[in-house]
Amino acid sequence: MTSHELMASLCQAVLGEIEQRQAAFDRLDQIAGDGDHGATMVLGARAVVVAMHDAEEASLGEFLKRAAAAFASVGGSIGPLWGSALLRAGQTLGDDPHPSAQAFAAAAASACEGVRERGRVAEGDKTLLDILAPATAALQESVASGADRAALLDAVAGAAHAGLIGSIDLVPKRGRSRRFGGRSVGHEDPGAASAYCIIDVLCRTLGESAG
Ligand SMILES: [Mg+2]
Repeated sequence: MTSHELMASLCQAVLGEIEQRQAAFDRLDQIAGDGDHGATMVLGARAVVVAMHDAEEASLGEFLKRAAAAFASVGGSIGPLWGSALLRAGQTLGDDPHPSAQAFAAAAASACEGVRERGRVAEGDKTLLDILAPATAALQESVASGADRAALLDAVAGAAHAGLIGSIDLVPKRGRSRRFGGRSVGHEDPGAASAYCIIDVLCRTLGESAG
């Protein structure tokens, strides 16, 4: 499998998972938002898949920059956040044709920084950052300790899941849902739920692709 084929299969897997959960994400967004989170995420994931088709010759960093523009174009509150995350990750990877594990960890940290700055959010504000930050920390620790691929993917998916569970009883401080913050307590934030879904499906697909 070429790296383009792997990236295409990852994008397709993410899209499939988001499509399958669209209604659930929309319902979560009805609790304290405008009920369109699932629909917006499907548009974003589809735009990324389309961007992938034209990126056969692109480095991973270049593809992520194109994916960023594609995802940001769907708007809403979530489009610019994922747009910033993907853009920062792409900038950090640069044109390296074979990024190292360390480079991936640095790119994930950059993605978190993009979300922090674009959304003006911190961990604990009940956003996607409550998933991305612990998953990135797990990735960094796994890379630093030389964990094998299966252990690394388990650690990242596990940290993302723990982040999601830990965020359920938080009161949102940013985004539209802060206005109806009380209603959100006891429920997953839609952006956090879809971020977990993305990380989980990426980890599962990468695990399977290892054969
Ligand atoms: Mg919404």
